[in-house]
Amino acid sequence: MKQKFLTIATIFLTMTLGSIFCRIGSRPISDGFPILEYHMITDSPDETSFEYSIPPEIFAKQLDFLLDQGYLTITLRDFERARRGEIDLPENPIVLTFDDGYSDNFYELLPILESRKQVAVIYIVANLIGTPGYLTWGEIQELQRHGIEIGCHTANHMPLENLSEEDLRREILDSKRFIEIHGIAVESFSYPNGIYDSEVQKFLSNGNYTSAVTGKSGLNNFETDRFELHRTNIPHPKIESLAMLEFELRLIKSKFQTEQE
Ligand SMILES: [Zn+2]
Repeated sequence: MKQKFLTIATIFLTMTLGSIFCRIGSRPISDGFPILEYHMITDSPDETSFEYSIPPEIFAKQLDFLLDQGYLTITLRDFERARRGEIDLPENPIVLTFDDGYSDNFYELLPILESRKQVAVIYIVANLIGTPGYLTWGEIQELQRHGIEIGCHTANHMPLENLSEEDLRREILDSKRFIEIHGIAVESFSYPNGIYDSEVQKFLSNGNYTSAVTGKSGLNNFETDRFELHRTNIPHPKIESLAMLEFELRLIKSKFQTEQE
């Protein structure tokens, strides 16, 4: 009996949230669009990465839900081009970002995106490329050929606060140049652990980055500071059978909660 009540309550809650979401989801870009933050797409994370991983079948369901709601994925390069007036964006854009550059982004994520003709942004750590568990240069180039944008997530994944000029130069500028000499165009940056200060942003500006994503939740529009874009974190679902409900709740929450500095 208790089980039945819980099932009915869950269905009712999902339908109610779904109808709210439909209305919110059709807002124009001036009200803001979400950028989602993912890491690994795998069924077999180790203990330390469990929290940062999503099973491929759950990620596919999340993407199908977004497409059903009328969202279309864009890259941050698209967003910057639209900000400059060079292209138009779809009515309901959304950006899917993946931090750290794990090799499952090639083996698990790419086929799911490809089969639905969708795109994403992957932030790679220059000195981890080709090491066990991380993307190789060949895989990164292949991802780029499939329309996936590659961004920089520093040279060594160290928090960027109170670093010397030399360290900032290596982590922000040299890492970008190193990736670019392998034929990969880099425009966007992701702060390790979401940590940054004004000095970091000066380096981003001098290094010709056009955008940077934080760990602060909320939506984005053309007025959002381009080096402080908000993201909605999507961790491993707390209860796998309720994964979609949790996903919807996280999206709804981000629409009402835009964190400021
Ligand atoms: Zn990271």
